[in-house]
Amino acid sequence: MTIQQDRPQADDATQVLALTTLLARQQAAYRAEMTPSLGARRDRLDRLEAMLIAHQDEFARAIDADFGRRDAVVTGLTETMTVRAAIRHARRHLKSWMKPKRVGVSWAFQPGQARIQPQPLGVVGIIAPWNYPLQLLLNPLVGALAAGNRAMLKPSEYTPVFGEALRRAVAGVFREDEVAVVTGGAEVATAFTALPFDHLIFTGSTSVGRKVAEAAGRNLTPVTLELGGKSPAIIDNSADMKLTASRLAWGKLLNSGQTCVAPDYVLTPRNRLSETVEALKAAMLTQYPSFAGNPDYTSIIAPRHYERLKRLAAEAGQAGAEVIWLGEPDDANRVLPPALILGATPDMAVMREEIFGPLLPVLPYDGVDEAIARVNDGDRPLALYWFGADAGAREKILENTISGGVTINDVILHLAQDGLPFGGVGASGYGHYHGEHGFRALSKEKPVFIQSRFSAGGLLYPPYGALARRMLEILKRFS
Ligand code: NAD
Repeated sequence: MTIQQDRPQADDATQVLALTTLLARQQAAYRAEMTPSLGARRDRLDRLEAMLIAHQDEFARAIDADFGRRDAVVTGLTETMTVRAAIRHARRHLKSWMKPKRVGVSWAFQPGQARIQPQPLGVVGIIAPWNYPLQLLLNPLVGALAAGNRAMLKPSEYTPVFGEALRRAVAGVFREDEVAVVTGGAEVATAFTALPFDHLIFTGSTSVGRKVAEAAGRNLTPVTLELGGKSPAIIDNSADMKLTASRLAWGKLLNSGQTCVAPDYVLTPRNRLSETVEALKAAMLTQYPSFAGNPDYTSIIAPRHYERLKRLAAEAGQAGAEVIWLGEPDDANRVLPPALILGATPDMAVMREEIFGPLLPVLPYDGVDEAIARVNDGDRPLALYWFGADAGAREKILENTISGGVTINDVILHLAQDGLPFGGVGASGYGHYHGEHGFRALSKEKPVFIQSRFSAGGLLYPPYGALARRMLEILKRFS
């Protein structure tokens, strides 16, 4: 494990001690400041942005190295720009977010006043997966800093080059007691989740999320769990197929499907199945005329995931599904072309597990009720997509399914909206962040009641005589 400054490899007990010491330093710094001013928070956001601008090319190269191949355009669009937009949004709105909000008091308590006063929680732990390593560490950090917290960040062990680059860059602009990056393997991540943070934001798989929630529960640390799942895309009979296919292809093949909110599978009306398959093929091959050797097409992060995806496709094929590969795999560089999978059944692993890669089952349905039932038969997904022009069918889907978020007539873009909360539901996680929602999630929204000198409350103090009884009658009548 490396904490900010380089330290020699240490055994487990020393690692845990180093983490505990770092947390104690951040907690002490928090207590010394408690509620940082607007200026102090803006300064931290400014430093974060300056660091991002200064290191953006280095970060893109580091992520490219971790993946084996990922274009700087993908990293720029999906990571650097997203975080910069989040910083700008927070800076613009911070003053109003920080303002205590007056709330009404009932007549019995007037002329007292009530307000909700947001206050920093303390030290926030942030754990990220490998698929968007920069965005998923720094977007939560924007919320943490805006809310006035200190933060400890833990990148994934699958992105060691980026993790190290980030650690050095962060150490260059933040004191260790403001923001610190902790690198290391899953054992460090486990020790990290055992720390008594004031809040923990975990982004990753549902299975690890369960362990994180358990570990945090022992400290009563509140957790935001940003998990994954199988996000469906439903094509309505009223959809424009060419446009739908091109948007689906973009969202599915961005980062080669290694996106938490990528469409996992497609439901299409039975009478449009072959049209859907042809349109998807055409759209994918237009966006990526080739796969091996195409710098726009991202490699699969690690041999374990590359083999997992090939196995999912092979098992589906052996169990009777038709697997239509759109190119040749390049095993040496872990480049897996997309495959459309027809005839997948619920018992196949490809329909039981989150795919997290460029395999796309396309399933026919008969009537909107069947589409709804199929979605509701599974775990609650992180995202749901619907394509069509029929407003009635759209509302029926919205009202009868539950998911972390929804984009209509496109994919992924609900998470790019500054004003919308982002987060899962059920197996796809709990809690929200992004913009003001992140600020509030990482603040104690402290309720404050300010009593007036002139309060009728004293009339109700014991001993309870006739006056108190009369007052109670009045309260009963007017409450
Ligand atoms: P993962 O759960 O394997 O790992 C995520 C992080 O957890 C890593 O940093 C890892 O070091 C750490 N970790 C591993 N074991 C741990 C343990 N026992 N205790 C604590 N931390 C531990 O996930 P992954 O493979 O890196 O990422 C893919 C998953 O993340 C997918 O399921 C995807 O849908 C999900 N995801 C969700 C979002 C979202 O915003 N909801 C975004 C991206 C990815």
